[in-house]
Amino acid sequence: MPPASPVVPTVEEIAIAVQVLRRGGLVAMPTETVYGLAADARDVEAVRRIFAAKGRPADHPLIVHLHDASALDLWAREIPASARVLAEAFWPGPLTLVLRKSAVVDPAITGGQDTVGLRVPAHPVARALLVAFGGALAAPSANRFGRISPTTAAHVREEFPGGEVWVLDGGPSEVGLESTIIDLSGPRPRLLRPGAVAASAIEARIGPLERPDDRAGPRASGRLVAHYAPGKPLELVDQASVAEHLHLHPAGTHWIAPGPLPANCAGEALPADAEGYAKTLYAALRRADAGDGLRIAAIRPPDDEAWAAVQDRLVRAAAGSGGDHAP
Ligand code: AMP
Ligand code: MG
Repeated sequence: MPPASPVVPTVEEIAIAVQVLRRGGLVAMPTETVYGLAADARDVEAVRRIFAAKGRPADHPLIVHLHDASALDLWAREIPASARVLAEAFWPGPLTLVLRKSAVVDPAITGGQDTVGLRVPAHPVARALLVAFGGALAAPSANRFGRISPTTAAHVREEFPGGEVWVLDGGPSEVGLESTIIDLSGPRPRLLRPGAVAASAIEARIGPLERPDDRAGPRASGRLVAHYAPGKPLELVDQASVAEHLHLHPAGTHWIAPGPLPANCAGEALPADAEGYAKTLYAALRRADAGDGLRIAAIRPPDDEAWAAVQDRLVRAAAGSGGDHAP
Protein backbone atom coordinates (compact mmCIF):
# COMPACT_ATOMS: atom_id res chain seq x y z
CA MET A 1 0.00 0.00 0.00
CA PRO A 2 1.35 3.49 -0.79
CA PRO A 3 2.15 5.63 2.26
CA ALA A 4 -0.57 8.04 3.40
CA SER A 5 -0.06 11.28 1.51
CA PRO A 6 -0.87 14.46 3.40
CA VAL A 7 -4.12 15.49 1.72
CA VAL A 8 -5.46 18.89 2.65
CA PRO A 9 -8.62 20.38 1.15
CA THR A 10 -8.18 23.95 0.05
CA VAL A 11 -9.79 26.91 1.78
CA GLU A 12 -12.10 27.12 -1.26
CA GLU A 13 -13.19 23.48 -0.86
CA ILE A 14 -14.01 24.09 2.80
CA ALA A 15 -15.89 27.28 1.87
CA ILE A 16 -17.97 25.30 -0.65
CA ALA A 17 -18.65 22.66 2.04
CA VAL A 18 -19.92 25.41 4.34
CA GLN A 19 -22.24 26.69 1.58
CA VAL A 20 -23.53 23.15 0.98
CA LEU A 21 -24.22 22.75 4.72
CA ARG A 22 -25.95 26.15 4.94
CA ARG A 23 -28.25 25.12 2.09
CA GLY A 24 -29.19 21.91 3.89
CA GLY A 25 -26.90 19.64 1.85
CA LEU A 26 -24.59 16.78 2.79
CA VAL A 27 -20.81 16.92 3.19
CA ALA A 28 -18.50 13.94 3.66
CA MET A 29 -16.13 15.00 6.39
CA PRO A 30 -12.85 13.24 7.16
CA THR A 31 -12.47 12.41 10.82
CA GLU A 32 -9.79 10.45 12.65
CA THR A 33 -12.21 7.53 13.19
CA VAL A 34 -13.95 7.12 9.80
CA TYR A 35 -15.47 9.54 7.26
CA GLY A 36 -18.74 11.10 8.43
CA LEU A 37 -21.79 12.09 6.36
CA ALA A 38 -22.42 15.52 7.83
CA ALA A 39 -25.37 17.91 7.84
CA ASP A 40 -26.30 21.00 9.85
CA ALA A 41 -27.47 19.60 13.19
CA ARG A 42 -29.94 22.50 13.55
CA ASP A 43 -31.65 21.80 10.20
CA VAL A 44 -34.16 18.95 10.49
CA GLU A 45 -34.63 18.61 6.73
CA ALA A 46 -30.88 18.29 6.27
CA VAL A 47 -30.72 15.67 9.03
CA ARG A 48 -33.51 13.72 7.30
CA ARG A 49 -31.43 13.81 4.11
CA ILE A 50 -28.68 11.89 5.93
CA PHE A 51 -31.09 9.07 6.78
CA ALA A 52 -32.45 9.02 3.22
CA ALA A 53 -28.97 8.99 1.63
CA LYS A 54 -27.76 6.15 3.88
CA GLY A 55 -30.96 4.13 3.79
CA ARG A 56 -30.70 4.24 7.57
CA PRO A 57 -33.80 3.49 9.68
CA ALA A 58 -35.08 6.63 11.43
CA ASP A 59 -34.66 5.15 14.92
CA HIS A 60 -30.85 4.90 14.66
CA PRO A 61 -29.36 8.02 16.25
CA LEU A 62 -26.61 10.17 14.75
CA ILE A 63 -23.59 11.62 16.54
CA VAL A 64 -23.48 15.42 16.85
CA HIS A 65 -19.97 16.75 16.19
CA LEU A 66 -18.94 19.88 18.10
CA HIS A 67 -16.03 22.25 17.52
CA ASP A 68 -15.07 22.08 21.19
CA ALA A 69 -16.30 21.03 24.62
CA SER A 70 -17.70 24.50 25.37
CA ALA A 71 -20.66 23.57 23.13
CA LEU A 72 -21.64 20.71 25.49
CA ASP A 73 -24.02 22.89 27.49
CA LEU A 74 -25.95 23.91 24.38
CA TRP A 75 -26.53 20.32 23.22
CA ALA A 76 -26.90 18.42 26.51
CA ARG A 77 -28.56 18.95 29.87
CA GLU A 78 -27.94 17.60 33.39
CA ILE A 79 -24.34 17.00 32.38
CA PRO A 80 -22.59 14.83 34.99
CA ALA A 81 -19.10 15.68 36.25
CA SER A 82 -17.84 12.47 34.63
CA ALA A 83 -18.66 13.94 31.20
CA ARG A 84 -16.48 16.99 31.89
CA VAL A 85 -13.66 14.75 33.08
CA LEU A 86 -13.79 12.60 29.94
CA ALA A 87 -14.17 15.61 27.62
CA GLU A 88 -11.12 17.20 29.24
CA ALA A 89 -9.10 13.99 28.97
CA PHE A 90 -10.08 12.72 25.50
CA TRP A 91 -11.45 15.59 23.37
CA PRO A 92 -10.71 16.28 20.68
CA GLY A 93 -10.58 12.56 19.94
CA PRO A 94 -12.34 9.29 19.17
CA LEU A 95 -14.76 9.27 22.11
CA THR A 96 -18.53 9.85 21.92
CA LEU A 97 -20.47 10.73 25.07
CA VAL A 98 -24.17 9.93 25.29
CA LEU A 99 -25.90 12.52 27.49
CA ARG A 100 -29.43 13.71 28.12
CA LYS A 101 -30.31 15.94 25.19
CA SER A 102 -31.12 19.63 25.42
CA ALA A 103 -34.16 21.21 23.78
CA VAL A 104 -32.13 22.29 20.72
CA VAL A 105 -31.58 18.65 19.70
CA ASP A 106 -34.28 17.60 17.28
CA PRO A 107 -35.62 14.07 17.91
CA ALA A 108 -34.83 13.30 14.24
CA ILE A 109 -31.15 13.23 15.27
CA THR A 110 -31.63 10.99 18.28
CA GLY A 111 -34.06 8.51 16.77
CA GLY A 112 -36.68 9.81 19.18
CA GLN A 113 -34.54 9.11 22.26
CA ASP A 114 -34.09 11.60 25.08
CA THR A 115 -30.30 11.25 24.79
CA VAL A 116 -27.76 12.56 22.30
CA GLY A 117 -24.31 11.32 21.26
CA LEU A 118 -21.71 14.13 21.25
CA ARG A 119 -18.11 14.17 20.08
CA VAL A 120 -15.34 16.67 19.31
CA PRO A 121 -13.33 15.19 16.43
CA ALA A 122 -9.56 15.63 16.28
CA HIS A 123 -9.04 15.57 12.50
CA PRO A 124 -7.75 18.99 11.40
CA VAL A 125 -10.13 19.09 8.41
CA ALA A 126 -13.17 18.22 10.56
CA ARG A 127 -12.11 20.93 12.99
CA ALA A 128 -11.57 23.46 10.22
CA LEU A 129 -15.00 22.65 8.79
CA LEU A 130 -16.71 22.93 12.19
CA VAL A 131 -15.05 26.27 12.85
CA ALA A 132 -15.81 27.66 9.38
CA PHE A 133 -19.42 26.44 9.59
CA GLY A 134 -19.81 27.86 13.07
CA GLY A 135 -22.29 25.22 14.24
CA ALA A 136 -22.63 21.55 15.09
CA LEU A 137 -22.71 18.78 12.49
CA ALA A 138 -24.82 15.66 12.78
CA ALA A 139 -22.94 12.79 11.16
CA PRO A 140 -23.02 9.02 11.06
CA SER A 141 -20.41 7.12 9.06
CA ALA A 142 -20.54 8.00 5.34
CA ASN A 143 -21.62 4.57 4.10
CA ARG A 144 -24.91 2.98 3.12
CA PHE A 145 -26.64 1.47 6.15
CA GLY A 146 -25.07 -1.72 7.48
CA ARG A 147 -22.04 -1.57 5.17
CA ILE A 148 -18.35 -1.07 5.86
CA SER A 149 -17.48 2.40 7.14
CA PRO A 150 -15.33 4.51 4.78
CA THR A 151 -11.79 5.40 5.79
CA THR A 152 -10.84 7.25 2.60
CA ALA A 153 -12.55 9.79 0.34
CA ALA A 154 -12.51 7.18 -2.45
CA HIS A 155 -14.56 4.83 -0.24
CA VAL A 156 -17.13 7.59 0.26
CA ARG A 157 -17.39 8.12 -3.51
CA GLU A 158 -17.95 4.37 -3.94
CA GLU A 159 -20.83 4.57 -1.44
CA PHE A 160 -22.37 7.73 -2.93
CA PRO A 161 -21.51 7.78 -6.63
CA GLY A 162 -24.39 10.08 -7.56
CA GLY A 163 -22.69 13.35 -6.65
CA GLU A 164 -25.26 14.22 -3.97
CA VAL A 165 -22.49 14.49 -1.35
CA TRP A 166 -19.71 17.13 -1.34
CA VAL A 167 -16.63 15.12 -0.40
CA LEU A 168 -13.71 16.66 1.51
CA ASP A 169 -10.60 14.53 1.12
CA GLY A 170 -8.54 14.53 4.31
CA GLY A 171 -6.50 11.42 3.53
CA PRO A 172 -6.91 8.00 5.17
CA SER A 173 -8.49 8.06 8.64
CA GLU A 174 -5.84 7.79 11.33
CA VAL A 175 -7.77 5.45 13.68
CA GLY A 176 -9.84 3.60 11.08
CA LEU A 177 -12.61 2.36 13.43
CA GLU A 178 -15.64 4.19 14.80
CA SER A 179 -15.43 6.06 18.13
CA THR A 180 -15.70 4.55 21.58
CA ILE A 181 -19.24 5.33 22.85
CA ILE A 182 -19.88 5.85 26.57
CA ASP A 183 -23.41 6.36 27.85
CA LEU A 184 -23.43 8.79 30.78
CA SER A 185 -27.18 9.40 30.71
CA GLY A 186 -28.13 6.67 33.18
CA PRO A 187 -27.32 5.88 36.78
CA ARG A 188 -24.03 4.15 35.88
CA PRO A 189 -21.57 4.84 33.02
CA ARG A 190 -21.85 2.24 30.30
CA LEU A 191 -19.68 1.19 27.38
CA LEU A 192 -21.92 1.09 24.29
CA ARG A 193 -19.22 0.55 21.67
CA PRO A 194 -15.49 -0.16 22.09
CA GLY A 195 -13.10 2.04 20.11
CA ALA A 196 -9.62 3.51 20.13
CA VAL A 197 -10.11 5.07 23.57
CA ALA A 198 -9.77 1.95 25.74
CA ALA A 199 -12.41 1.16 28.34
CA SER A 200 -9.63 0.84 30.93
CA ALA A 201 -8.42 4.39 30.17
CA ILE A 202 -11.95 5.64 30.81
CA GLU A 203 -12.32 3.57 33.97
CA ALA A 204 -9.04 5.03 35.24
CA ARG A 205 -10.77 8.42 35.24
CA ILE A 206 -14.40 7.81 36.14
CA GLY A 207 -14.52 4.34 37.71
CA PRO A 208 -16.11 1.08 36.54
CA LEU A 209 -18.12 0.88 33.31
CA GLU A 210 -21.02 -1.41 32.64
CA ARG A 211 -20.27 -3.53 29.59
CA PRO A 212 -22.38 -3.95 26.47
CA ASP A 213 -25.40 -6.18 26.67
CA ASP A 214 -26.86 -6.91 23.27
CA ARG A 215 -30.01 -8.34 24.82
CA ALA A 216 -30.90 -4.78 25.88
CA GLY A 217 -31.66 -3.92 22.23
CA PRO A 218 -30.13 -1.67 19.61
CA ARG A 219 -29.68 1.66 21.39
CA ALA A 220 -26.60 2.36 19.33
CA SER A 221 -26.83 1.16 15.76
CA GLY A 222 -23.19 0.14 15.95
CA ARG A 223 -24.34 -2.36 18.53
CA LEU A 224 -26.60 -4.27 16.19
CA VAL A 225 -25.21 -7.77 15.97
CA ALA A 226 -25.03 -7.48 12.19
CA HIS A 227 -23.17 -4.34 11.09
CA TYR A 228 -20.04 -3.12 9.33
CA ALA A 229 -20.59 -5.91 6.86
CA PRO A 230 -18.89 -6.90 3.62
CA GLY A 231 -21.04 -8.28 0.81
CA LYS A 232 -19.24 -11.64 0.79
CA PRO A 233 -19.60 -14.12 3.65
CA LEU A 234 -16.98 -13.41 6.31
CA GLU A 235 -15.90 -15.94 8.87
CA LEU A 236 -13.68 -15.49 11.92
CA VAL A 237 -11.24 -18.40 12.09
CA ASP A 238 -9.03 -19.35 15.04
CA GLN A 239 -5.41 -19.95 14.13
CA ALA A 240 -5.91 -23.56 15.28
CA SER A 241 -8.80 -24.08 12.83
CA VAL A 242 -7.07 -22.89 9.65
CA ALA A 243 -6.27 -26.43 8.49
CA GLU A 244 -9.88 -27.46 8.98
CA HIS A 245 -11.07 -24.45 6.93
CA LEU A 246 -8.60 -25.25 4.16
CA HIS A 247 -9.85 -28.83 4.11
CA LEU A 248 -13.45 -27.63 3.69
CA HIS A 249 -12.54 -24.86 1.21
CA PRO A 250 -9.28 -25.68 -0.57
CA ALA A 251 -9.73 -22.58 -2.76
CA GLY A 252 -11.76 -19.41 -3.02
CA THR A 253 -11.12 -17.98 0.44
CA HIS A 254 -9.55 -14.52 0.78
CA TRP A 255 -7.71 -14.48 4.10
CA ILE A 256 -6.86 -11.49 6.23
CA ALA A 257 -4.63 -11.79 9.27
CA PRO A 258 -2.67 -9.68 11.71
CA GLY A 259 0.92 -10.31 10.66
CA PRO A 260 1.90 -12.96 8.10
CA LEU A 261 -0.79 -15.13 6.50
CA PRO A 262 -0.84 -18.81 7.53
CA ALA A 263 0.74 -21.26 5.07
CA ASN A 264 -1.40 -21.99 1.96
CA CYS A 265 -3.69 -19.04 2.64
CA ALA A 266 -4.05 -16.37 -0.05
CA GLY A 267 -5.18 -12.89 0.81
CA GLU A 268 -3.79 -9.88 2.64
CA ALA A 269 -1.51 -9.67 5.66
CA LEU A 270 -2.41 -6.67 7.83
CA PRO A 271 -0.17 -5.02 10.44
CA ALA A 272 0.44 -7.28 13.45
CA ASP A 273 -0.25 -4.52 15.99
CA ALA A 274 -3.82 -3.60 16.95
CA GLU A 275 -3.54 0.07 15.98
CA GLY A 276 -2.04 -0.63 12.59
CA TYR A 277 -4.57 -3.40 11.95
CA ALA A 278 -7.52 -1.18 12.95
CA LYS A 279 -6.35 1.53 10.61
CA THR A 280 -6.23 -0.78 7.59
CA LEU A 281 -9.06 -3.26 8.32
CA TYR A 282 -11.96 -1.56 6.51
CA ALA A 283 -9.95 -0.84 3.37
CA ALA A 284 -8.79 -4.47 3.40
CA LEU A 285 -12.40 -5.70 3.72
CA ARG A 286 -13.39 -3.53 0.77
CA ARG A 287 -10.54 -4.97 -1.31
CA ALA A 288 -11.54 -8.49 -0.26
CA ASP A 289 -15.12 -7.76 -1.29
CA ALA A 290 -14.02 -6.43 -4.67
CA GLY A 291 -11.53 -9.27 -5.36
CA ASP A 292 -11.93 -12.77 -6.82
CA GLY A 293 -12.50 -14.69 -3.58
CA LEU A 294 -15.85 -16.32 -2.87
CA ARG A 295 -15.60 -15.75 0.87
CA ILE A 296 -13.45 -13.91 3.40
CA ALA A 297 -11.79 -15.49 6.42
CA ALA A 298 -10.26 -13.33 9.15
CA ILE A 299 -7.81 -14.92 11.55
CA ARG A 300 -9.16 -14.17 15.01
CA PRO A 301 -6.91 -11.54 16.62
CA PRO A 302 -5.55 -11.90 20.18
CA ASP A 303 -8.14 -11.78 22.94
CA ASP A 304 -6.86 -8.74 24.84
CA GLU A 305 -7.95 -5.18 25.42
CA ALA A 306 -5.83 -3.61 22.70
CA TRP A 307 -7.85 -5.65 20.20
CA ALA A 308 -11.31 -5.12 21.76
CA ALA A 309 -12.60 -2.69 19.11
CA VAL A 310 -11.23 -4.81 16.25
CA GLN A 311 -12.78 -7.97 17.73
CA ASP A 312 -16.11 -6.19 18.11
CA ARG A 313 -16.17 -5.02 14.47
CA LEU A 314 -15.06 -8.40 13.10
CA VAL A 315 -17.76 -10.24 15.02
CA ARG A 316 -20.40 -7.83 13.73
CA ALA A 317 -19.01 -7.87 10.20
CA ALA A 318 -19.18 -11.68 10.25
CA ALA A 319 -22.76 -11.61 11.55
CA GLY A 320 -23.87 -9.23 8.81
CA SER A 321 -21.81 -10.53 5.91
CA GLY A 322 -22.91 -12.19 2.72
CA GLY A 323 -25.42 -9.57 1.73
CA ASP A 324 -27.77 -10.50 4.55
CA HIS A 325 -27.16 -7.68 6.97
CA ALA A 326 -30.70 -7.15 8.12
CA PRO A 327 -30.52 -6.39 11.85
P1 AMP B 1 -22.64 5.22 13.02
O1 AMP B 1 -21.27 5.21 13.59
O2 AMP B 1 -22.71 5.47 11.57
O3 AMP B 1 -23.42 3.98 13.31
O4 AMP B 1 -23.42 6.42 13.71
C1 AMP B 1 -23.26 6.91 14.96
C2 AMP B 1 -23.26 5.98 16.13
O5 AMP B 1 -23.49 6.67 17.37
C3 AMP B 1 -24.35 4.96 16.05
O6 AMP B 1 -23.87 3.70 16.45
C4 AMP B 1 -25.36 5.53 16.96
O7 AMP B 1 -26.33 4.64 17.33
C5 AMP B 1 -24.53 6.07 18.09
N1 AMP B 1 -25.30 7.03 18.89
C6 AMP B 1 -25.57 8.30 18.57
N2 AMP B 1 -26.41 8.85 19.49
C7 AMP B 1 -26.67 7.90 20.40
C8 AMP B 1 -27.51 7.83 21.57
N3 AMP B 1 -28.24 8.86 21.97
N4 AMP B 1 -27.55 6.67 22.25
C9 AMP B 1 -26.84 5.63 21.81
N5 AMP B 1 -26.06 5.62 20.73
C10 AMP B 1 -25.97 6.74 20.03
MG1 MG C 1 -22.05 3.48 10.71
